[in-house]
Order: sequence, then C-alpha cells, then structure tokens
Amino acid sequence: MEKLLPRHLQIIYKINQTHLDDVASLFPDDMDRIRRMSLIEEGDGKRVNMAHLCIVGSHKVNGVAEIHSDIIKRDVFRDFSELEPEKFQNKTNGITPRRWLLLCNPGLADLIAEAIGEEYVKDLTELQKLNDLVDDDAFIRDVAKVKQDNKLKFAQYLEKEYNVDVNPASMFDVHVKRIHEYKRQLLNCLHVITMYNRIKRSPTKPFVPRTVIIGGKAAPGYHMAKMIIKLITTVADVVNNDPVIGHKLKVIYLENYRVSLAEKVIPATDLSEQISTAGTEASGTGNMKFMLNGALTIGTMDGANVEMAEEAGEENLFIFGMRVEDVAEMDKEGYDALQYYENLPELKQAINQIKSGYFSPKQPEMFSDIINMLFYHDRFKVFADYESYVKCQEKVSALYKDPREWTRVVIKNIAASGKFSSDRTITDYATEIWGVEPTDLKIPPPSEPREALEETARALRKI
Ligand SMILES: *Cc1c(COP(=O)(O)O)cnc(C)c1O
Repeated sequence: MEKLLPRHLQIIYKINQTHLDDVASLFPDDMDRIRRMSLIEEGDGKRVNMAHLCIVGSHKVNGVAEIHSDIIKRDVFRDFSELEPEKFQNKTNGITPRRWLLLCNPGLADLIAEAIGEEYVKDLTELQKLNDLVDDDAFIRDVAKVKQDNKLKFAQYLEKEYNVDVNPASMFDVHVKRIHEYKRQLLNCLHVITMYNRIKRSPTKPFVPRTVIIGGKAAPGYHMAKMIIKLITTVADVVNNDPVIGHKLKVIYLENYRVSLAEKVIPATDLSEQISTAGTEASGTGNMKFMLNGALTIGTMDGANVEMAEEAGEENLFIFGMRVEDVAEMDKEGYDALQYYENLPELKQAINQIKSGYFSPKQPEMFSDIINMLFYHDRFKVFADYESYVKCQEKVSALYKDPREWTRVVIKNIAASGKFSSDRTITDYATEIWGVEPTDLKIPPPSEPREALEETARALRKI
C-alpha cells in the first residue's frame, strides 16, 4: 500500500492520529483500548483495518437489521460504540414493492388491489387489511390459484430453458442466494439426501412431493463454494434419475441466479429457505421478497427473519435451530461435529454416502474437502442444527398437506410484510440520518419530454 498509494496512507495515518487522540481523551491511560481501536493493526507487518477506517469516516453506522445492529454494538464494534454511541443506528433493510410485487407478480398484486384497494402500493403497511380475509374461502382459493399459476409458468420456463420436467403439484422449496458456507446450502443438501434415503427405505410410505430448487453464484476464488455447487448437482443427478424416487423428489440447480431470474422464481415459491447460522446474516432481503410473494419461511433466528417472526407471529414461520446465544455458548464450550455424526443415524448415513462416493462413484474422493471442513473446521456448525432442521421440515410437509391451512398462513405472512418496504427504510434514513423532508415536486417519468425533466432539475436546484 505504501508503494501503490503513498498519499492515501499518509492521510490514513493523519486520520488515525486525530482518532486515537479522541480515544485517549475519553479513556485516558487505557492503552489496550487505544491499541484495539487503531486504524493500523500491528502484527507481523502493518495492516489498515478497513472496518475501523470506515466507522471513523462515517456519519452513521447501520447494522441493517435489529439483531445485527445489536451485535455490532455489543460485540463486533463495542469499543467504537462506547466512543460514539449516537453514531450506531438501526434502519432495517427493505425491498421495493414496485419491482418485488407489482412488476414480478401482477396476479397477486391485482388480487390484493381487488381486496383492499391500491393504497398499499405507496403504503405497504396497508397489507394488514388482508388479515380480515384469512377466513374468507373465496380469497383463500384465489391466493392459492395465483400461486399455482405462477408455479405452472415457472415450470414451463424450466422445461423450455433447462429441459427438465417438474411436478407442479409438488412443494417448490427454494434456496436462492450467493453460495456461501454461512448461508448453509450444505444443510439444505443434507436434508435432500435425508429425504432421498427415507423414500428409498420405505418407497410405499406417503411422501409430500417436493421440488428443491437451489441457485446462486460462487465468487471466482472461493473453492469451497464451488465444491458446494458440485455436490448439489451431483446429488441432483442421482436423485432425479432414480426410478424409486419418481416425481416425489426433484432437485434443480438454477444457474446464473440474478435479479431477472429472482423475479421469476420468487412468485412461484412455496417454501423460502433462510437457514444461515444465527448471528451471521446481517439482514437478508431475499427473505422479505419471498414473504411478500406468498411463500412461507423456514429459517433461523437471524437477520431480518427475527423481525419477520415478530411481525407475523413466530407460529406463522418455521423457526428452528440455535439462537445467537446458543451459538456463543457453543463457541465457549467448543463445537464437536463428530458427536452429532455419531448420535444421529440419518446424518451419519448422508455423510457416509458423500464420503464414500455413493453420489460420485467415478471419483469417490471428490468431496473430501467438504467432509474435512464439516468435521474439523466448520465455523458455521452445520451438524449442530441438522436434527432441528429436519424435524422442522417435517412440520412444513405436514402443513403443506392441508392446502387451506397453508394458504391461510401465507395470507397472514403477506399481511405482515408491510414493514419490509424500502419506502419505510428510506423514510427513516431521511428523517433520522439525513435530516431531509419530502418535497411536493413532481418528478416526471423518464418517458416525458426533456423540457419537463429540465424544469424539474431547475426547481430542485432552487431548493
Ligand atoms: C435479493 C437478492 C439477493 C439477496 O438475497 P439474500 O437471500 O438476502 O442473500 C441476491 N441476489 C439476487 C439476484 C437477489 O435478487
């Protein structure tokens, strides 16, 4: 950095000096605190701590959901919040209802407008009015119909683009987001293998059919993420071509996951997977998109899932697994993956299959890096939540067998999703951070003549 950006480094040293003077004047003689809070980490070789620089240079710091804003203050940046408590804020993330409802799911948007009017487009909390309709048979039927139409349309898209045939009567169980160990696509994959083994063990036993859709990109240099994709597609090949499994279970890997694909898959989803290790997902926004589009959530008490459960009632989400406190406790005691492996026969079977090359007979060692990680250096404790996750998935299947009750819970979730509009997020930023007020200036749409835009620009300059 000294060679490449010498002037930047000088400025950083200068900022650090002023910053550490501030620390020293509030906490005199606390040398350890001064060392901890420095923008420059001394060790073998000096390093600039980018997070510290960022906090010092910022007007406000936002944790993007309540739970993560609390963790930041209590834990990650405790010293900094003690120095400048008013700097640390929460403005829970949101999504725009124009893109993530009106544009991507016109069937549902129109149905809602028929039921409660169009006000909700500009004030998403109006969706609460849908609570009056949870026992309305005609509305329940219509909501279920919109979902079924969206599923059929997405099934046709999959058939056309990927040449795969899916059972549109099956539950669409969707896990789409960047591939990362903390987001725990591996936990989902272990559940898929568990379902596969259960069907193979008792082929005539009733099974609630599922289409498990997993999608997302891996960063180019992230080897483990790429191996996770390889594992999912390898398991999918075995599951999808086993005649005993038939159309009870299908696994699809969605390539090139991006906003335009999210707009197609989210309206067609029954079950939204939000299963990060508690304390690792700052907010998540995918979780909100699914909730607004009539999917139910299986998730941990992490990120904005916590606030979704608060808004809809915990009984209307499928919450499982360790809480942040449990994870902290386990970090103190030490996490022993082997113990779960030894005590949970279905987990043991799934892991043994991956390890022995059941899914990759030509290359039995293919997944040794994943296996080694899961046993000996899994920072995200996949095995610790396995049992709770599988049991929770059984509850999901049980509710899905009762379409009326499932759809009633869907309606309760849509009704509770108003908080997650980005309109609310931006308004809170404007009033509590930027100190700006709304203007009654009308901004013309970009399609209007240039003069209209220029006139608005002139008016804005006067403000
Ligand atoms: C919303 C969105 C995300 C973020 O999803 P999370 O589940 O919150 O990680 C990522 N990629 C795309 C394409 C999205 O639309």
